[in-house]
Amino acid sequence: MALCNLVTGGAGFLGSHLVDRLMEAGEEVICLDNYFTGRKQNIAQWIGHSRFELIRHDVTEPIRLEVDRIWHLACPASPVHYQFNPIKTAKTSFLGTYNMLGLARRVGARLLLASTSEVYGDPEVHPQPESYHGSVSTTGIRSCYDEGKRIAETLCFDYRRMHDTEVRVARIFNTYGPRMLADDGRVVSNFIVQALQGRPLTLYGDGHQSRSFCYVDDLIEGVIRLMDADATGPVNLGNPAECSIRVLAELVRDLIQADLPLTSQPSPEDDPLQRQPAIDLARQTLAWEPKVSLAEGLGPTIDYFRAALDS
Ligand code: NAD
Ligand code: UDP
Repeated sequence: MALCNLVTGGAGFLGSHLVDRLMEAGEEVICLDNYFTGRKQNIAQWIGHSRFELIRHDVTEPIRLEVDRIWHLACPASPVHYQFNPIKTAKTSFLGTYNMLGLARRVGARLLLASTSEVYGDPEVHPQPESYHGSVSTTGIRSCYDEGKRIAETLCFDYRRMHDTEVRVARIFNTYGPRMLADDGRVVSNFIVQALQGRPLTLYGDGHQSRSFCYVDDLIEGVIRLMDADATGPVNLGNPAECSIRVLAELVRDLIQADLPLTSQPSPEDDPLQRQPAIDLARQTLAWEPKVSLAEGLGPTIDYFRAALDS
């Protein structure tokens, strides 16, 4: 019999790609979203399908459902969005995860938490292994998200210890691809949209800060392998190919063949200087590593934004 999957945040960027993979595998999917940063058009292809259900719901409220697996992704991921209402962001991470763990416990479901590299904060250890405990501000403008995910991880492990709830924790590093919002403020979508519109590309600070960008298809494959694996985690999922933000801007500009200036704007508060996942654990336990290079993954992402802006 097909497994019944609950995907919270299923109308968002990552959630909708996960929904696609589960539907294509012949499983049942309940997509739950409050549409804060998600869109119905991301999952429109499944509306009306007999194995698909869509629920408008906020994870900060409890819900009763019968499911086998919970993929808990609901939470805004872009700094612009999670800082819009930081108290709500913290509630979503704490209460949302608490409610989903309560559901998992009641029905005996396995829960996978979409955690983040932000639990490492502005890291003093580089690259970051799962054993690194992080350097996170409790009071800054990123804290609602970073500390929210840290308490969400803590809840998962306490439910596991106290109630034997089956949990999986994925620490996801910067991921990009089609269906990111054009105005979501993250660097890949910003640069592509700016270049397509013939505007200067905005470097925050000098552009020497780094990130490691993973293409969405690779990331979703890792998340699915972790859910199926006999491993609780936390497991880092990301592409270890590190790149400075300036180099990313130059790459996007070259791929779009736009002769545009790079402009410097002030650095946001608490902006981490560097980030690169150590993925030895994912390689060993999930036999997973990313396959798509940044230059390869930017192609379909640029095509997506070109079509989105045209329409
Ligand atoms: P996204 O903003 O596109 O998707 C989040 C989804 O959750 C949206 O559909 C939004 O409407 C929904 N949502 C937000 N708050 C909710 C609430 N209270 N109740 C119900 N639904 C709610 O972001 P994304 O990039 O798809 O990220 C998905 C998950 O992965 C998030 O938990 C994020 O923290 C995590 N993550 C993403 C990245 C990345 O680079 N994309 C990196 C690390 C972690
Ligand atoms: N950034 C930038 N220009 C932009 C948007 C972001 O230089 O238009 C920088 C940002 O300051 C950070 C990096 O790009 O150093 C990644 O930012 P993003 O918001 O995508 O992800 P996060 O900071 O959460 O990793």
